[in-house]
Order: sequence, then structure tokens, then C-alpha cells
Amino acid sequence: MRKNIVAGNWKMNLNRNEGIKLVEDVLNLLSSNSTSEVVFSPSFVHLYKVNKMCKSIEGVSSSAQNCSASEKGTFTGEVSAEMIKSLGVEYVILGHSERRENFMETNNELKQKVDISLKNGLKVIFCCGESLSQRKNEVHFDCIKNQIEESLFHLNETEFENIIIAYEPIWAIGTGVTASTDQAQEMHQFIRDLISEKYNNEISENTSILYGGSCKPSNAKELFSQKDIDGGLIGGASLNAQDFAQIINSF
Ligand code: PEP
Repeated sequence: MRKNIVAGNWKMNLNRNEGIKLVEDVLNLLSSNSTSEVVFSPSFVHLYKVNKMCKSIEGVSSSAQNCSASEKGTFTGEVSAEMIKSLGVEYVILGHSERRENFMETNNELKQKVDISLKNGLKVIFCCGESLSQRKNEVHFDCIKNQIEESLFHLNETEFENIIIAYEPIWAIGTGVTASTDQAQEMHQFIRDLISEKYNNEISENTSILYGGSCKPSNAKELFSQKDIDGGLIGGASLNAQDFAQIINSF
């Protein structure tokens, strides 16, 4: 059965003390009734500490925000999947639109990152999302299909079990504009159908598909109540303990 997951992407925010305090505060605010797994995704420099804070708590884990497409070697400033895994970290976020746009990450490079992450035992939170002009030109389904096919659909069934998809329309990220519940559900269903066609119904039903894009306490409950929305990848609101905990507790 697929898991409900709420992951907080801190991006390049919070110093060490702020990060530690945020994790402590969120953990204190979690409802014992929540059915969601919680994932904190800090920057690399905080990952060891944050992972240590989460590791012993059931249903709480950590994620890197990226990894190198290469195994090891002369890549100054890069961090490998093996290094991340050696900390005991469970997840890596790949293909965030900010990395696609600012660091020119292509579907093919992401395919390599997916492969190297899975090879090293990380689960992948794979982001996909269309731009505003793609949605206006009604090519948003093609865009998502293309991103998923080119970076993920070479995987075999066993490998695909370690993939979580995050649908994040670019026009909704950090803008305060959230996709409507219908828009989000429609795309999540489309993604689930794609997975079913490529693999089978069981794999598709077992894949967690998260929504990301200005998700906040006021809209989380409605979004998460949709049948194909299994949680959220949360940016801005994950930096505030009350907001993030409220989103998690929406399940
Ligand atoms: C994100 O960056 O993944 C994101 C969803 O950001 P925000 O929640 O701030 O829109």
C-alpha cells in the first residue's frame, strides 16, 4: 500500500541552530493520529545532524535536495549519492524545477542521477512540473509525460518501487498560487495512469504521488483528500514549525 508523505524542502535556508530548532519544534507539534511519514530535507551541511535527530523516530526521516550524477572523483563541490547514503539518509530529491532551471539539469542527466541514487540505496523523490506557458498552451500533460518517461521509465519494476513522484507545477512554486484541487487531482491521476500503462496497476497503486506548489495549512486538507494525492512536497511553509506541522497533521 502506498504511503502518505509530507516532505519539507528547506532549499538554501536556515543556519544550523535554526534548522535544529525547527526540527525539534515540528516533532513536538506532531499529532499522534497523523498517518503521514515526515521527511526533512535540509541543505547538505545540516543533513548529518538532522538525520541523527530523525532516525530513531518512527515515520520521520531525512532527504538530500540533490546529488551528483557521477560516482566519485574530480568534481569539486559535488556530493555523491554514496556519501548521502553513508549518513543513513533515506531519500534524495531529484529534478526540482529550480535545479532544472538554474542548473540546466536535463531529463537525461536526471536519469543518471536516478540510477546512481537507486544503486546506492536511496529512495528518489522525483519532481516534475510544467511552466505557466506550457499549461496555457495546453501541453502540460505532454511535458509531464516527457519528464517521467525520459528520466524514469527505463527502470525495472523493482527499481520503480523506490520512486516517489512530486508533481510541482512551476507556476505554483513559491508564488502563493496553488493549483486547484481539480487541476492537481487531474494531473496526479494522469501520472498514475502513465505508471499503470508502463508497469502495471499494482505498481501504480503503490506509488506515492505528492503535490508541491504553495501548499499551506489552509489548502493541505483539501488537496490531501483527493484520491491520487498522497501528500506534499512543501517549500516555504516547511520553514515554519506551526505551518509545517499543521500540514502534516492534515492527514
Ligand atoms: C518547492 O519548492 O518544492 C515548493 C513546493 O515550494 P513552495 O511550497 O514554497 O511553493
